[in-house]
Amino acid sequence: MSDSVHETDVIIVGAGPVGLFAVFELGLLGLKAHLVDILDRPGGQCAELYPEKPIYDIPAIPVCTGQELTDKLMEQIAPFDAQFHLAEMAEALTKQDNGNWRLTTDAGTVIEAPVLVIAAGGGSFVPKKPHLGNLEAYEGESVFYSVRRMEQFRDRDVLIAGGGDSALDWVIALQPIAKSIALVHHRDGFRAAPHSVEAMRAIVAEGQGKLHIAQMRGLEGDPPRLTGVKLETKEEGEFVYPCDMLLPFYGLTMKLGPVAEFGINLDQNLIPVDTEKFETSVPGIFAIGDINHYPGKLKLILSGFHEAALMSQAAFKLARPGERLRFQYTTSSSELQKKLGVR
Ligand SMILES: Cc1cc2nc3c(=O)[nH]c(=O)nc-3n(C[C@H](O)[C@H](O)[C@H](O)COP(=O)(O)OP(=O)(O)OC[C@H]3O[C@@H](n4cnc5c(N)ncnc54)[C@H](O)[C@@H]3O)c2cc1C
Repeated sequence: MSDSVHETDVIIVGAGPVGLFAVFELGLLGLKAHLVDILDRPGGQCAELYPEKPIYDIPAIPVCTGQELTDKLMEQIAPFDAQFHLAEMAEALTKQDNGNWRLTTDAGTVIEAPVLVIAAGGGSFVPKKPHLGNLEAYEGESVFYSVRRMEQFRDRDVLIAGGGDSALDWVIALQPIAKSIALVHHRDGFRAAPHSVEAMRAIVAEGQGKLHIAQMRGLEGDPPRLTGVKLETKEEGEFVYPCDMLLPFYGLTMKLGPVAEFGINLDQNLIPVDTEKFETSVPGIFAIGDINHYPGKLKLILSGFHEAALMSQAAFKLARPGERLRFQYTTSSSELQKKLGVR
């Protein structure tokens, strides 16, 4: 086995609220987890689709926003030291001779474990792409939809497209290391947080970056090497803005993606499970949260939390065959309190 293979007890596909809480329930039983998410931060729909909207139906939390819930879950699971592989798509799954699952991501990360948990929600978030001819030919070399390594953009001429949080956050973050930075958006109004808009405008006002209120019309340069992007404004017509990196941030859509190829029975893009263990048609593969289906299923965060607790009991039996599982309360078990680092 190569050194680059991560071995763990449980692989979790999806770091949404349910995948995160699974780390807690598994951790209480002494099981370690690696999580993979195509997004560059944890929280799934809560962090990506409604970070500032209030949620009112999390037990004992009268109100919290999507981001606050994510932050609290991250705090709650901190003692269990889960390993996150963010901005990586869980792409291929194979079964090893020793019965373990081997998951490979699109970034080449390989993880092996006896248990696989699919907490993939509505599916993987995939970027919405601008309609530009030959765009795919530049992807991976000059065109990116997320930032995996900031160093990749050092001393490059970077053009960022979009008007939301991701676009503006990356203008601000990459400005100090890029050779030049520019933002292109079709109107002079931005959906991003006001403080980010302010910071972006300050960069432009200080001459450290450019803002083009324009439409993107085409890509220049022999693929995959970009030399410029054709922009069009009402005042200037078409012109080529010279740059060698383009980062379009046009938002995300969700689709089931590679999970559909994992060999598990699906029903209308959902994964049928039993309600005792939340196991799929394939032994050793569990599905929890929005991705699963069973009679009476409610797509609510609290349902996913319950599913994570029951799945963990079954996962323990697979990951620790022969060991006894004792039911314990966190309130009174010194063993659990040690795991939580509160004793
Ligand atoms: C606007 C809005 C408001 C809502 N309000 C409420 C509410 O008030 N109360 C409530 O209970 N619920 C609410 N929900 C629903 C709630 O957000 C979902 O039930 C919850 O997010 C499901 O959690 P999850 O962890 O199962 O999936 P998700 O949150 O969808 O997370 C799944 C994660 O898996 C990742 N993923 C999928 N496939 C792959 C792959 N192949 N490789 C890598 N990563 C992958 C995705 O990128 C994603 O981050 C709301 C939803 C929306 C959209």
